[in-house]
Amino acid sequence: AEAFNANVAGAKALNAFIVETPDHAIAAAKAADADRAAGTLKPLSGVPIGMKDLFCTNGVQTTAASHMLEGFVPRYESTVSQKLWDAGAGMLGKLNLDQFAMGSSNETSYFGNVISPWRRKDGGNAALAPGGSSGGSSSAIAARLCPAATGTDTGGSIRQPAAFTGISGIKPTYGRCSRWGIVAFASSLDQAGPMARDVRDCAIMLENMAGFDPKDATSLNLPVPNWEAALSSDLKGKTVGIPKEYRLDGIDPDIDAMWDAGIAMLKDAGANVVEISLPHTKYALPAYYIIAPAEASSNLARYDGVRYGLRDLPQGAGLQDMYAATRADGFGPEVKRRIMIGTYVLSAGFYDAYYTQAQKVRTLIARDFEQAFASCDVILAPTAPSAAFGLGEKMADPLAMYLNDVFAVPASLAGLPAMSVPAALNREGLPLGLQIIGKAFDEQGVLNAGLAIE
Ligand code: GLN
Repeated sequence: AEAFNANVAGAKALNAFIVETPDHAIAAAKAADADRAAGTLKPLSGVPIGMKDLFCTNGVQTTAASHMLEGFVPRYESTVSQKLWDAGAGMLGKLNLDQFAMGSSNETSYFGNVISPWRRKDGGNAALAPGGSSGGSSSAIAARLCPAATGTDTGGSIRQPAAFTGISGIKPTYGRCSRWGIVAFASSLDQAGPMARDVRDCAIMLENMAGFDPKDATSLNLPVPNWEAALSSDLKGKTVGIPKEYRLDGIDPDIDAMWDAGIAMLKDAGANVVEISLPHTKYALPAYYIIAPAEASSNLARYDGVRYGLRDLPQGAGLQDMYAATRADGFGPEVKRRIMIGTYVLSAGFYDAYYTQAQKVRTLIARDFEQAFASCDVILAPTAPSAAFGLGEKMADPLAMYLNDVFAVPASLAGLPAMSVPAALNREGLPLGLQIIGKAFDEQGVLNAGLAIE
């Protein structure tokens, strides 16, 4: 009992869950028993999963890890979570994240940072970031609190936390998973996807999350392939591209070594490996940090103190005062920074200089990938330029934090499927992830290359 209590305390110390919903998971387990007896087991019958607290869940508080939505209980279910329940899964709870999914370390959450279960080999007990924004998902899976969880990825939020914690995660092609019922950050980039221990579990989860939804205007009207059944680590006849622009000067030698080891693994699996060029790579991060805040500033205008969650109505105040008080109180510093940047780049005097320019860059980046995919099937690169960093290490310097997304945002801007799989441990004993980027709609190619590495 002592060991159990210590485990529970240790699990709680990770701060991975904002709300626990054991009854939901138990109901699914009971339904699974009944289904088994009746011979009608579903693909995820009884599987207890974690739900990133960015997905609206009917009757269960949904906060986006913000004070703004504290106490907000949706009366509807997101399409993705509904599909998972229809497939038999149950919910253990709502997982912590960076506030409104803005961040790379889970430190912007109103409900406190999440801690990774990993420690540096000689680092004592110094706490490490689980990555972000899906840091509750990554920490919970890495700590074996749940076998799988949902994530969302706008500019790396599935892939980077997966890499930081030694698990797998895939962001499918933009439009594969419905955005309906997911708290919006940057709508042209937001995409849901699974995080799990391995590639196969990701494939199973994704099959039960994806699919056309008329309630999302950008939903892809394509059948959902049977990715799990077609998993194969035999890459004979496949060509893997290595983008030379991702070989950054001064990058951690452990990252380069992992990348080279990954190349060797794919060759062993039968793939042909070629160098490719994605010439506009260096403009991806600045373009992302214009486009994402621009869309965020528009999406977050809805939090006005009238419709959702928090309302600060000072004595004798008018409507404008209520908006101002609610927004000043409800949004954290990083969210405010994004709103300020977003409204600035969208303002009449600067729109062409920043927003229009960033959209043009986005097109060039998408074109880079199109041209590269003329000579390869998938692209292999690191997921992030570093292993997990310490809590607090980058919080004072937003640019240093944004730089951690450098390898993740190009695929987001191009809407391409991309996955992170654990590939090595660095000298400090921390996991590093490799990223596989695929052609639009080719999640299978991505998963298969991932399978050859894990
Ligand atoms: N770290 C990136 C950001 O802060 C990506 C976040 C995400 O993908 N939700 O915008």
